[in-house]
Amino acid sequence: MKISFKIIVIAFVIVLFAAMLLARSGKLAAGRDENAFRQFLKEYESKVIPLSKEVALASFQSSISGKDEDFNRSSSLQIQLNKITADPGGFAQLKAFKLAGQIREPLLKRQLDIIYDSYLKNQIPILQMEAMVKLQTRIEQKFNTFRAQVDGKTMTDNDIEQVLRTSSDSLQLEKVWKASKEIGRLVAPDILQLVKLRNAAAKQLGFANFQQMQLKLGEQDPQTIESLFDELDVLTRDGFVDLKKTIDEFLAARCGLEMEQLKPWHYQNRYFQEAPAIYPVDLDAYYKDKDLVQICRTYYEGIGLKIDDIIARSDLFEKPGKYQHAFSSDIDRSGDARVLCSVKPDSYWMNTLLHEFGHSAYSKFNDPQLPWTLRDAAHAFTTEAIANLFARFAASPSWLRDMVLISTAEAQRIAVPSHDALRLQQMVFSRWAQVMFRFEKSMYENPDQDLNRRWWELVEKYQLLKMPAGRNEPDWAAKIHIALYPCYYHNYLLGELLASQLLYHIADRVLKTVDVGNQSFAGRPEVGRYLIDFVFKPGMRWPWNEMIERATGEKLTAKYYARQFIGGK
Ligand SMILES: [Zn+2]
Repeated sequence: MKISFKIIVIAFVIVLFAAMLLARSGKLAAGRDENAFRQFLKEYESKVIPLSKEVALASFQSSISGKDEDFNRSSSLQIQLNKITADPGGFAQLKAFKLAGQIREPLLKRQLDIIYDSYLKNQIPILQMEAMVKLQTRIEQKFNTFRAQVDGKTMTDNDIEQVLRTSSDSLQLEKVWKASKEIGRLVAPDILQLVKLRNAAAKQLGFANFQQMQLKLGEQDPQTIESLFDELDVLTRDGFVDLKKTIDEFLAARCGLEMEQLKPWHYQNRYFQEAPAIYPVDLDAYYKDKDLVQICRTYYEGIGLKIDDIIARSDLFEKPGKYQHAFSSDIDRSGDARVLCSVKPDSYWMNTLLHEFGHSAYSKFNDPQLPWTLRDAAHAFTTEAIANLFARFAASPSWLRDMVLISTAEAQRIAVPSHDALRLQQMVFSRWAQVMFRFEKSMYENPDQDLNRRWWELVEKYQLLKMPAGRNEPDWAAKIHIALYPCYYHNYLLGELLASQLLYHIADRVLKTVDVGNQSFAGRPEVGRYLIDFVFKPGMRWPWNEMIERATGEKLTAKYYARQFIGGK
């Protein structure tokens, strides 16, 4: 009895000692690997941080000028940057760190995961990567410099949208719409080649195709995203059928046509991605002769997100050869963010300015204590959510009133039609996003199918527009995102869902009100504080759904979007 007790004690001590040794060697291994990874990071950052900044500056410059030399410089810098993460030696090191599983410190582990994915993407032959960057840059330049020609006259995108919005002359609308699609023919062969190169690269890296790879490397499960789009399709389908009928009645009367005679050019923009103005509220009238940049500056300052420095570095007005879309660029993740756009005093540009400065506020108010790799938006769609949360205010009577652009009486007068218009906008956009998401998925699954036809099948199914008889043109290629921001569009819709989720959370928990519909955040710095602390500063510290859960108490959900725009539930 006594002896066996002794044996047990001795055995216990031995086991304990062994466990301590093991733990110690585990810790040693972890410490060793973590130190080695820190060393790797040091070298990685010393190359990537300055070069990324140069790439961002060169790309911003080429977007302003549209010049060959600027585009060449931008693309060769981008290739240099890609070459760093294309290095097979570096990738092998990262893979070893991952397999050993000894990087445990949370921020180090997170950086390892993110940098590993960015290397993985580029583990393709250098020549193939260069070919892709060059093709992409060539397409970008074609888009930059393309201006539609109508009856011998040159039209900018702004001119085109202006005619589509305001004219009721079917012949003129048809001409302008068709002219705007000519870019599709110019870029379609390049895009197709690029799509095949992207697919080949994805397959070499073990993915079914490029679309699957893009989603997975963005920490989005393709199946989950598709299910969400199916759910949104069901949620919006019946409501959209009714709204589309209302739109068609309005537009037919406006253009002196029968409803059956309506063509895609009657829907007031190139893609029917914006809602036609069918309700008695003329937002453009409120912005005419106004200084939109100044309004934006005042608004953001009022919510505690001062953007004077961003405005000073931005390029905000039309120029020949300049990129005609808008974007915000985080130049260095150290406060230098800038916006490019072509402002005109109307509601479209008020919306766009609020959108782009939302992005740049997200960039500017990051956490300088975070490692550089993590100092970025949790996901592309979380920054779209912030951008859209603010952009929606351009059509909000409460916001217009609080920014002293309209009187209280006028705000009351337009309250109902404005809400209808905002709802219509969301429904129209939601159906359009279905087309984009499903087209890209289908195109990467089979680039050799009849894409011209596939595009119109989806447009007919989701947007309920009729293809003009006999049309066989690459209209899909005219949409710039297909070529230059591939498999990204679904993020805009996810961004809308999150914008609604954030709006309800801010109203409830930050502003402590149940009156969600009338919030403009104007003059409420606690909103900026909340966003900085819960959304901007966390950066990529956590996977996006974890950030959302910490910020709002729930994972991403369509619930609030449906509550805000679809009604019921
Ligand atoms: Zn955006």
